[in-house]
Amino acid sequence: MDEYQIPRERMIERLREHYKIRDEKVLEVMRKLPRHLFVPEALKAQAYKDNALPIAANQTISQPFIVARMTELLELNRSSRVLEIGAGSGYQTGILAALAKQVYAVERIPALAQEASARLEKFGCENFVLQCADGTKGWENYAPFDGILVAAGGPIVPEPLLRQLSLGGRLVIPIGEDPKTQNLIRITRTAKGFHREDFGACAFVPLIGEHGWQKN
Ligand code: SAH
Repeated sequence: MDEYQIPRERMIERLREHYKIRDEKVLEVMRKLPRHLFVPEALKAQAYKDNALPIAANQTISQPFIVARMTELLELNRSSRVLEIGAGSGYQTGILAALAKQVYAVERIPALAQEASARLEKFGCENFVLQCADGTKGWENYAPFDGILVAAGGPIVPEPLLRQLSLGGRLVIPIGEDPKTQNLIRITRTAKGFHREDFGACAFVPLIGEHGWQKN
């Protein structure tokens, strides 16, 4: 029980009724993880609203619906090994860690990476590692991955991420030629190659790196 239990329950209802999130395991972990502890102190009261919120370094914590939808599309289970690019606040990392076996998270901004690690450790989350690096290159040492989630939008699907998918593995990533808008894409690795599905328009902060946008 905490002071945000009621708004958190409402968020879950909205995800189920309005956004049609169907994976009960995803809803259950989002019901448990205290999202208000992943946003800046001054925005705590807004943590369960239906939108993204600013965090440090000009970045954002994704809208709850986007976290739920991307997680659902990964179709994780207790033996999944997951790569997450763009850990930001660490909220999505915590959700993935609660569903998968192990999460390998990457964040390019050092201050965010440090804060996210500290926060997750405080919650007793143990099945994650987080490094500060350019995630568009993936994380070769731990590949292949059963799921890869990219929380920032790039112009193309980074080739290293395709290579680092296991057979049957899924990559969920926002892709768009305009840095401000993308389409949510899921790519599944099959015996024949890669199967691509489009889940519609979305808006993420830019994916900056070797296989993303150039830093300006
Ligand atoms: N899932 C996070 C979303 C953070 S916003 C949350 O809900 O808090 C996306 C993050 O992607 C930002 O923190 C940004 O710094 C990071 N990012 C952008 N390009 C990246 C790259 N090439 N490698 C790793 N992280 C990147």
